[in-house]
Amino acid sequence: MEKIKPKFIYNNLLNLYEDAKCALDYYDSYSLLIAIILSAQTTDKAVNKVTPLLFNSYKSIEELKDANVLDVQKIIREIGLYKNKSLNIIAASKMLFEDGYKEVPNDFNYLITLPGVGRKTANVFLAEYYNEQNFGVDTHISRISKRLNLSKTNSNPLTIEKDLINFFKDYSFKKTHHLLITFGRNICTSKNPKCSICPFNGLSKGCAK
Ligand code: SF4
Repeated sequence: MEKIKPKFIYNNLLNLYEDAKCALDYYDSYSLLIAIILSAQTTDKAVNKVTPLLFNSYKSIEELKDANVLDVQKIIREIGLYKNKSLNIIAASKMLFEDGYKEVPNDFNYLITLPGVGRKTANVFLAEYYNEQNFGVDTHISRISKRLNLSKTNSNPLTIEKDLINFFKDYSFKKTHHLLITFGRNICTSKNPKCSICPFNGLSKGCAK
């Protein structure tokens, strides 16, 4: 069985989800980074419910750095891991401010030193905000990459990231990421994938595993 070509995957997903975009609500680099930190192990929908009040109360890095942690906890308590996330977003804002940033910089190596920001968060942020060719690997991306045989079944997130960077090198990673995530939420779901309506049905031996 031949490996599916990137063009075939991209075009089919674009055909299905032309309007696929970031599901988190944000208005600048600050609000995007905070929303992505909050979205770890929580749905984007749940994050979007708490961020209007959060960003209304703390409009910038400068304002959030001075927030009282209990006040922040109260605002975001509906989302998972809210206690740690409250500490992280205040600490990340403090670090950004003390390092002289009013905006979140386009700098992967710096971003991964911020509290609550790992490789995936930094990659998702840079692709979304700065349109950089960075690929954030979450559970949807990981699962689909293995099912479509773009990565081996035992690959870790870093290997998958490298595989995808190489495989989709001619395409916008930002758009590809949104297309794959939307596909993972709607068709290639973790449990009971809707293979009968999938454009890749029968084309990848990874789907059988
Ligand atoms: S055929 Fe099924 S498992 Fe394979 S990519 Fe499509 S939805 Fe996912």
